[in-house]
Amino acid sequence: MENFSSIEKQKSLDALNNQIRSCKKCGLHATRKHALVGEGNVNANIMFVALSPGAKEDIQNKMFVGPSGKVFNKLLYEAEIDRNMVFMTNLVKCTLPKNRKPKANEIEACSRFLNDEISIIKPEVIVPLGHYATRSILLKYHANPDNQNMNFKNINGQLLDFNGVKVYPLTHPSALLYNPSYETITIEKYKKLKDFM
Ligand code: SF4
Repeated sequence: MENFSSIEKQKSLDALNNQIRSCKKCGLHATRKHALVGEGNVNANIMFVALSPGAKEDIQNKMFVGPSGKVFNKLLYEAEIDRNMVFMTNLVKCTLPKNRKPKANEIEACSRFLNDEISIIKPEVIVPLGHYATRSILLKYHANPDNQNMNFKNINGQLLDFNGVKVYPLTHPSALLYNPSYETITIEKYKKLKDFM
């Protein structure tokens, strides 16, 4: 049976998701089919933060169902983690046309939703996937992403602690589509997630 906190979390999430689905705060609303809301276990210890929905995700209105979703599934399988055990969301909730980079104003406009998701889910560990999600999470916790020590390459697979908030940046699954040679090292880093469950 769901406990009280799960029910309250789900209610808060449902209200937030209604706002996301109807949001027109930035220009990306004009080219999306769906504004994707977060998915997964509201009591998850781990929250993945990807960049934005891909084309397939936009059409199917579901996270990680396209090519990078297949890679993500494999990484979770290797790490012995079930999707139902984690929570997944995006930094930018609407798809980026032709997989272009996000603009600063789009990240800025959408970041309140991510902040609210983090406040509701209260994960033990936030796992930003790739450069943009990691940069945004660092800024949220007042770390300087332009500092060499905080360069994504240097903190990929490192557990960071910002006054009790744990952040574990990892490679975005889509990066392996372009650089399959990263797979072995990436799997090793994903396997460490089990320690946080
Ligand atoms: S990307 Fe975010 S801020 Fe922009 S329209 Fe979509 S939900 Fe709203």
